[in-house]
Amino acid sequence: MEEKKEKIGFIGLGIMGKPMVRNLLKAGYKPMIFNRSQGPVDELVSEGAVPAKSAKEAAAECDIVITMLPDTPDVEAVVLGANGVLEGAHDGLLLIDMSTISPVASQKLALYADAKNVRILDAPVSGGDKGAIAGTLSIMVGGNLSDFKRAYPVFEAMGKTITHCGPIGAGQIVKACNQIVVALVIEAVSEALVLGSKAGVDPGVVLKVLGGGLAQNRVMELRGPTMIQHDFTPGFKSRLHRKDLKIILETAREFDVDLPVTRIVEDMFVKLIDGGKGELDHSALLTVVEELSSHSIYAKP
Ligand code: NAD
Repeated sequence: MEEKKEKIGFIGLGIMGKPMVRNLLKAGYKPMIFNRSQGPVDELVSEGAVPAKSAKEAAAECDIVITMLPDTPDVEAVVLGANGVLEGAHDGLLLIDMSTISPVASQKLALYADAKNVRILDAPVSGGDKGAIAGTLSIMVGGNLSDFKRAYPVFEAMGKTITHCGPIGAGQIVKACNQIVVALVIEAVSEALVLGSKAGVDPGVVLKVLGGGLAQNRVMELRGPTMIQHDFTPGFKSRLHRKDLKIILETAREFDVDLPVTRIVEDMFVKLIDGGKGELDHSALLTVVEELSSHSIYAKP
């Protein structure tokens, strides 16, 4: 006989949250959903989800509450604030924060949760909007092993590589490591495309050749063709990647680690956002590299 499914609340229905809820529906859950704006709620209710009036109501009605919100202050407001998760919490509620936030903030949230007998996991993801839609996210989890085992079937509905990384905050640490590599690879791919193109080689040729050797990487595979087209539809918004870099540099300071190239790339993201491109995909970092060399790789067809 199939085991009874836990009742899930889901808060934050943006680029990531919306397809993640769709995958929970596909797996047979009937998530209770809440979002700041109403549009995505209406859309998902028409597909079988149940609306909640607040994060508090979702917490009161559900066994597990998932948050997928932009930044640390958003998660703190939804969990600790008025009409928030902890106000509606009951003994044994499991809160899974899948947003990318500061590891230190995750550990602080755990103290508040503990005082209310609420279990908590940090479970940020990688794989982007495409991974969220396909249900193939990589999910990196921090927290107690028994809570991880309890959440596993829920993670399986949304992801493929599901890893227990260590105690609370460990998922966010691994996510920080991931975001260093992604940012620096976007920057490296941008430099390669601008150099090749300004020196007279078709950027498509650069992509093709690099994709067949040691320089091969997922950023180039997934975003290379759209970078050449200057199509920066998100995806992952630049302002969110800058938020991650800020978290990374704060965490590095805390552990007395120097990240010299990450610092430079963070400055480039600040420039991008100051130029009004914060809502564009993070691959728009290319435009900063282009401006430095007064050369656009985009050739109108
Ligand atoms: P998004 O901005 O598209 O969506 C965030 C959603 O949260 C929005 O629907 C917004 O209305 C809602 N929200 C904000 N504050 C709220 C509040 N107080 N109460 C209720 N709802 C609220 O962001 P996203 O791209 O879906 O990213 C979510 C998280 O996942 C971020 O931490 C991001 O860093 C991380 N992430 C994103 C990607 C990606 O490719 N987009 C990949 C991996 C991780």
